[in-house]
Amino acid sequence: MCGIVGIIGKENATEILIQGLEKLEYRGYDSAGIFVSRDDKQEYLVKSLGRIADLKKQITPEVQGTIGIGHTRWATHGKPSEGNAHPHTSNNRQFILVHNGVIENFEEIKEEFLKNFQFEGDTDTEIVVNLIQHFAQTGMTTKVAMKKALTVIRGSYAFALIDKNDPTTIYVAKNKSPLLIGLGDDFNVICSDAMAMLNQTNHFVEIADGELVTVQADKINIEDEKGNSIYRESYEAQLDLSDIEKGTYPYYMLKEIDDQPTVMRRIIQEYTNAVGTTVIDEQIIRKITASDRIYIIACGTSYHAGWVGKAIIEKMTTIPVEVHLSSEFGYNMPLLSENPFFIFLSQSGETADSRQVLVQTNALGLPSLTVTNGSGSTLSREADYTLLLHAGPEIAVASTKAYTAQIAVLALLAKAVGDEKGNQVSIDFNVAHELSVIAAVMETIIDEKMVISQLVEKYLTDTRNAFYIGRGVDYYVSMEAALKLKEISYIQAEGFAAGELKHGTIALIEEGTPVFGVITDKKTAAHTRGNLKEVESRGANNFVIALASLAKETDQLVLPDVHPLLTPLVSILPTQLIAYFATLQRGYDVDKPRNLAKSVTVE
Ligand code: GLU
Repeated sequence: MCGIVGIIGKENATEILIQGLEKLEYRGYDSAGIFVSRDDKQEYLVKSLGRIADLKKQITPEVQGTIGIGHTRWATHGKPSEGNAHPHTSNNRQFILVHNGVIENFEEIKEEFLKNFQFEGDTDTEIVVNLIQHFAQTGMTTKVAMKKALTVIRGSYAFALIDKNDPTTIYVAKNKSPLLIGLGDDFNVICSDAMAMLNQTNHFVEIADGELVTVQADKINIEDEKGNSIYRESYEAQLDLSDIEKGTYPYYMLKEIDDQPTVMRRIIQEYTNAVGTTVIDEQIIRKITASDRIYIIACGTSYHAGWVGKAIIEKMTTIPVEVHLSSEFGYNMPLLSENPFFIFLSQSGETADSRQVLVQTNALGLPSLTVTNGSGSTLSREADYTLLLHAGPEIAVASTKAYTAQIAVLALLAKAVGDEKGNQVSIDFNVAHELSVIAAVMETIIDEKMVISQLVEKYLTDTRNAFYIGRGVDYYVSMEAALKLKEISYIQAEGFAAGELKHGTIALIEEGTPVFGVITDKKTAAHTRGNLKEVESRGANNFVIALASLAKETDQLVLPDVHPLLTPLVSILPTQLIAYFATLQRGYDVDKPRNLAKSVTVE
């Protein structure tokens, strides 16, 4: 969600900023802007509503500089507009600021400090840049004024500030929002995601909450809250630029759906040794084995993966598992068990809703593990342990390979804990082998793309709404399948526990309403079929996705059988393709659905 880039010390700052913002485009935004300046203090501010392509159209050849900051905005305060786009300028035009995040007390600040200030837009960010001006006008240096402002501000933020009177420094600070410094030869960069600046450097320095960093062309200085200078080693980003290119694919989403068999094989490689034994940090295994309850905390697609994880973990470890939405859990924490263990599931590792829960569990001294694709991400750094998904960058807003990767990693974790506990279900279950079977099955489903595309044309072309139904893990898959469909095709879709339909929702079934039934579980198959009959009698256009061993001749999609505990890894695949084709056929941008951002870094 939203992005920050900055550069100091290179002639072509404009080009570098634009390229950086383009790399962050996939995260979702509604407007963008850059500020660049040259040593002779010629300066340019260009902002635009819409895409980076729209911003580029407004950049004339003279817009050049050696220092600059850029931003993609995902509006939280004030509508998306050119005026509300960042960078924002202080009343006296001296300070220029970009901001990711949300300032919670902006109204109080306005009231207390900024009575005589004018505001051009409605953002919380404009309050901050003027607060810095306010303190600077009391005689403080820019750095001290910014530090002072940070003591007043409450909320989440990553800031990059330029003082136009001294265009040799970018001032940077963060709280809860990600921001990195990238190191170059005679230049330095800043970015909210290493991906944005990978073509400039792959050496990055992390910043901690509360620090203030001054970034100059030849040096950076990190200061803690007390003003002590801190030296921090840089790290090398383990990212390959080719990982973030689409190659010959029309959309990232399709590439990422196709990536899934490879991701399964990579996960097996990363988490098992040559003889097929699961290799996971023993401390994690010990902590989980000693716990009396596991709490999985997640949002969106990760939350749905969490439910599948619960089904697997409980069977293999006999430890009870609760799955919670981060945004609910944080403010209404249930009564916890005596020895809880927390698992945070987050594709990016930057999800603000989950992070606020982690802050609380850390304060309570409770053990935690982050399962994420984002190595070095905030949730990864702040939890006790991390297991990486090794899925490679996921660029499409609609998550696909991160979902299946989360389930696969949780299954391997469950195996390690179950074996440690001597649980027979776990001992008898060769997860690594079954995952390799699944990788091959995924390939056969992916090969059926065109069949799925044709079916989608028949079922979803003109529909206003659609339902996915199933029971047990098929219900969990239904929730995720419906989310996928609605978030990119804008078809109003719901995932339902099949048995629940008749308790209300069946009233929505009309002539032709598409109902997708997911059937992979022997013990509930007959019941779900019964529910499909009920909706069919009321006009529904049924579409059945079933495992071969449970299939009927009339079923629309039949999937090869796989291990019963891992069926979601294959039943989800056709639903991802259904969402993809429905969106294409409706003419929408598959990778960048409206109003959505890839990683949700505000609460
Ligand atoms: N709260 C700020 C705004 O609405 C920043 C939003 C963002 O993170 O992009 O402008």
